[in-house]
Amino acid sequence: MSSIDIVEKSITLRSNGRDSLTCPCCGTESFMVPREKCIGTLDGRIYNLWTCLFCTAIINRDDIEASIRENSSISDQAESSHHFYDSSCLDESKIKKYIEGDQRIDFLIANYPEVPRGVFLDFGAGQGFAASSATKYFEKSIAFEISVENIFRIHHMLPNKDRVEITNDISEIEGFDVLFAFHVLEHIPDMLVVISNLIRRLNPGGALFFQVPLFRRDYLTRTHYTFMNSYACERLCEKLDLVVKGVWFDHDQDFITCIACQAVRNT
Ligand SMILES: [Zn+2]
Repeated sequence: MSSIDIVEKSITLRSNGRDSLTCPCCGTESFMVPREKCIGTLDGRIYNLWTCLFCTAIINRDDIEASIRENSSISDQAESSHHFYDSSCLDESKIKKYIEGDQRIDFLIANYPEVPRGVFLDFGAGQGFAASSATKYFEKSIAFEISVENIFRIHHMLPNKDRVEITNDISEIEGFDVLFAFHVLEHIPDMLVVISNLIRRLNPGGALFFQVPLFRRDYLTRTHYTFMNSYACERLCEKLDLVVKGVWFDHDQDFITCIACQAVRNT
């Protein structure tokens, strides 16, 4: 099927009222075209993948629509996070070793040294390691996680624990200087809406620092809704009114990392 055929097919679908999904990455409506149906390597399921013609993100269409229809993403993520970030096997020496070896915040500072050093928000904090390691540079960290049991269990062992707050209530978080979201955005069905609401609370000069998986068949899971690439990251940041500082690729694991900052406005 040629590209022209695919575009024509998408027009037909739109006219049938089926192409109603808003792109979770760029917020564009009615611009989705079918890409392929393929089998996920991990679970053997068939995934119905579509592409946004505006931002080029790949959308796991059936699962994102089921999540929206059943309003199940929060419970699904809580369960998935609870198991994935199980902290019951961690002791103080393992935690210390992991956090000392965590170079993610050093990477942010190296590439955006001007970032204000007040509050660091670890969004989707898992075990809270990034929140803890960020206290090397920032006055305070907030670890937001839907399933907070894993962080509470090890909080007393986290370096600089007195400067690491834990919450599962996003509404109570006010201004912050960094929104850190590693392997989180792809799990949010209405990603642009959620991130836009957070970016409104980003302090002037603050940064969005995120990493997501690129599209690979072995990264297909029921709760990975969106696969971004370099162009899609730029369109997302554009929608958020952020300036992209850089985009990097992890070639071993096929991850993409982006740092974008909020322009300081003269009022
Ligand atoms: Zn899009």
